[in-house]
Amino acid sequence: MDKLEISGDICLKNQCHHCCIETEMLVLKTECTQISKATGIPITNFSFMTEDNQRMLKNKTIDDQEVCFFLDDKGLCSIYQFRPEGCTYYPIIWDLITHQAVSDDYCPFHTELANKIERISLNLELFILKLYGWL
Ligand code: SF4
Repeated sequence: MDKLEISGDICLKNQCHHCCIETEMLVLKTECTQISKATGIPITNFSFMTEDNQRMLKNKTIDDQEVCFFLDDKGLCSIYQFRPEGCTYYPIIWDLITHQAVSDDYCPFHTELANKIERISLNLELFILKLYGWL
């Protein structure tokens, strides 16, 4: 399946990293292994297991604010080229109740990206199936 992603241009243009603050991004073990190999940082330094047995990125504290472990001091993702797949789809997320891709209104620019939902939907669903071990 082709790699699809939401371009970070809109985030850069608006100097926004809203989604990287207090992030709750779930990641695959394989993604963590790749990130660890590329950065030399042990997996347990940047991720942890949730109560639901899901792997999630850790946050760190900068200026009294909890931000993603990988957000740098300029407000940019330090692993942008190999960021987790869930980050590449945001603000398109999977609604586990309605079982469909939706645009997350936590993103201040989500309406500008709503036309990407259909294009991203199948890849996102497959990713969710992998995340939850259903595939
Ligand atoms: S990995 Fe990068 S894009 Fe994903 S939440 Fe962290 S800083 Fe943001």
